[in-house]
Amino acid sequence: MAKSKTDLKSLKPATRLVSTARDYSEHGIVSPAVYHASTILYPTYQALKEQKQTYQYGRRGTPTSRSVETAIATLENGFASKVTPSGLSAITTTLLSFLKPGDHILIPDSIYAPGRAFCDKMLKNWGVAVEYYDPLLGGAVSAFMRATTRIVYCESPGSQTMEVQDIPAIAQGAHKAGALVVVDNTWSGGHYFNVFAHGGDISIHAATKYIVGHSDVMMGAVTCNEETWPRFKDGYETLGQFAGPDDMYLTLRGLRTIDIRLERHMKSAVNIADWLKGRPEVDEVLYPALPGAPGHEIWKRDFTGASGLFSVVLKPQSDAALAAFLDGLELFGMGYSWGGFESLCVPFKPNRTARPWTRQGTCLRFHIGLEDPDDLKADLAAGFERLKAAS
Ligand SMILES: *Cc1c(COP(=O)(O)O)cnc(C)c1O
Repeated sequence: MAKSKTDLKSLKPATRLVSTARDYSEHGIVSPAVYHASTILYPTYQALKEQKQTYQYGRRGTPTSRSVETAIATLENGFASKVTPSGLSAITTTLLSFLKPGDHILIPDSIYAPGRAFCDKMLKNWGVAVEYYDPLLGGAVSAFMRATTRIVYCESPGSQTMEVQDIPAIAQGAHKAGALVVVDNTWSGGHYFNVFAHGGDISIHAATKYIVGHSDVMMGAVTCNEETWPRFKDGYETLGQFAGPDDMYLTLRGLRTIDIRLERHMKSAVNIADWLKGRPEVDEVLYPALPGAPGHEIWKRDFTGASGLFSVVLKPQSDAALAAFLDGLELFGMGYSWGGFESLCVPFKPNRTARPWTRQGTCLRFHIGLEDPDDLKADLAAGFERLKAAS
């Protein structure tokens, strides 16, 4: 543990994640207690009137929430963080905190689909002008800026189509026009991409994925720079957000090992993505960490690593052939979410309006878990045999 005099910022990321938020624990016990709290008592009428004690009411924060929030702010190199009950609520709470009727928001066409649904079903009804943009537009974002543009939202890479965004160029255009840059940083786990060093103002996570890391907790996180923090914190509290203490504890527990887990996810994903690239059934591998893949150059410039999530475009397949491939997989489960210890494979169809999806083949998204990659490749090879037989 870093003693209290050590400045965490002087330490390397892996060390920071082990050393952060340790001062919330007591009695020499390494991990903080899980406080189940609604009522918090004030010792005197004077203390009640002053409202100055560290903990005031369950929803306003406990040592458990402060510990996980401190650790996430450390992970992201941000000013401060809050956690929410899901990644989607981290998105909606952020947007509701900053937007008002008449504002304009720019959204990448590659956004996580339920985030898109929130923009279409709610923000539009409340008088916010929602405009989707080509996620690859970079500095050309300037042409889309209006006097009313409040937020340029980014998600990089997009969690299905894997487009890597030029966040520094987008941030430059957005800031010149007075807009904030909000980035969904879930893919990098927060560990391999620093939103604030690349011009972002707010970083959002589905902590459900790599931060929790075990497919057993729903959790969101929002980290702000100093400038955006007061407004976000006010919105978060006004909307009544908080999360359950056991889930917060599991989030902190997961975060402690994200460095070593991501290292293995990346190593296996590179191995399997490279193998898939050589398969005759595969048209294209969409994994920014792979040399020659779309977005590789920007990924190399801006990221310090890659997670285990990537997509593949197969040569066009019949539904029956696809079913034969998917249904017989033994080690890859078919389901949404990702970032846990287990491998997943799920088909998807991009829903686009600003930059049409022109690839013809069947799209599959893979999450490479912590299994041995040789076993995973054998499972996929058997799947390709079934696919061929059913074609
Ligand atoms: C899963 C996901 C979310 C939503 O997180 P939940 O915890 O499932 O609500 C948001 N953004 C991205 C990129 C995701 O993959």
